[in-house]
Amino acid sequence: MENLSNISTIREIMDRFGFQFSKSLGQNFLINPGICPKIAEMGGAAVETGVLEIGTGFGVLTHELAKRAKKVVAVELDSRLLPVLDYTLSEHKNVKVINQDILKVDLHKLIEEEFQGMDVYVCANLPYYITSPVIMALLEQSLPIKAVTVMVQKEAAVRLCANLPSRDCGAVTVAVRYYSEPRQLFTVSRGSFMPAPNVDSAVIRLDVKKDKPLSGDAERRLFAVVKGAFSQRRKMLCNTISSSLSVSKEQVSKALKDADIKETARAEELSLDDFIQFSNCLYQTTE
Ligand code: SAM
Repeated sequence: MENLSNISTIREIMDRFGFQFSKSLGQNFLINPGICPKIAEMGGAAVETGVLEIGTGFGVLTHELAKRAKKVVAVELDSRLLPVLDYTLSEHKNVKVINQDILKVDLHKLIEEEFQGMDVYVCANLPYYITSPVIMALLEQSLPIKAVTVMVQKEAAVRLCANLPSRDCGAVTVAVRYYSEPRQLFTVSRGSFMPAPNVDSAVIRLDVKKDKPLSGDAERRLFAVVKGAFSQRRKMLCNTISSSLSVSKEQVSKALKDADIKETARAEELSLDDFIQFSNCLYQTTE
C-alpha cells in the first residue's frame, strides 16, 4: 500500500480495524511522505541487506524498507497492529512481523536465524521513552550490525551525537562514541506525525565500530568512571569520582596526573581517550 502517510488512508485503516492510538506505546505515526524514503535510503536499506525495524505502527517505514532491502524483520509490541500490518504490507513477501517487546528479544538469535549472509541495519521510529535503552541494548550486545538509524527527540539527538569533549555531552554520549560513530542526519518537525507530539525530532545514524577499545573488566570500569564523572557534571572529577567510586581524592589526583589530564578537569572536558586513560590509571592506582 503506497499512501500510508496519507491522513485519509490512516483514518480509513483506523475505521476498518477499530484502531485507536495508544499514548502509552508512543504511537505517533509518520504522515510526512518525504521522511520514510529518506530514513530507508540513509539508513542503509539496499539490495542484499537485511533490516531490523523496531516499532512498525501501520508499516509506513516498513514499506519503504521492504522496497529496498532483501529482507525486513519488523518487531512491534502492539498485537492490535498485526491484522493491520497483514493488510498494509500484503504486497511485500520479504517482510516478517514479530509481535514482541524489542527489549525482550534475543537479538543474536534473531539476526543469526533471519539474516544469514546479509549485512544488517537497524531502523526505528520508537517511542521517545525507550530510545536510549534500545540504543544501548543494540550497542552493548556486540551484535553483528552495521548501523542503527533512529528517530529521537531533537534534544536527545544533540546529546547522543555531541562531540567529546563538549558542553552538550553526557554519559550517554561517551557510551555512544565508545561503540559507534554517530551523526545527525536531518530534523523532523512535530507536524510530520499523527497525532503530533509536543516536541520536534531528528534522525540519527550510529555506525557501529568493528572493534571496541576495551573489553571485560576494563570496559566495566570505564563505564563506572563515566557514570560517576557525569553524576555531577559541573563538579571537578576529584570530587565526583572519589565520592561515587569510594576512592580517595589523592588517588583520583594521581590517576588524572598519570593520564595527563589537568587536576581541575570536569567530565565535559574529557575526550573518549582521556576517559579510557583515566579509568585505566585509576584502577592501577587503587589496586
Ligand atoms: N514506524 C511507525 C511510523 O513511523 O509511523 C510507528 C512509529 S511509533 C512512534 C512507535 C511504534 O513502536 C508504535 O507502533 C508502538 O506500538 C511500537 N512500540 C512501542 N514500544 C515498543 C517496544 N518495546 N517494542 C517494539 N515496538 C514498540
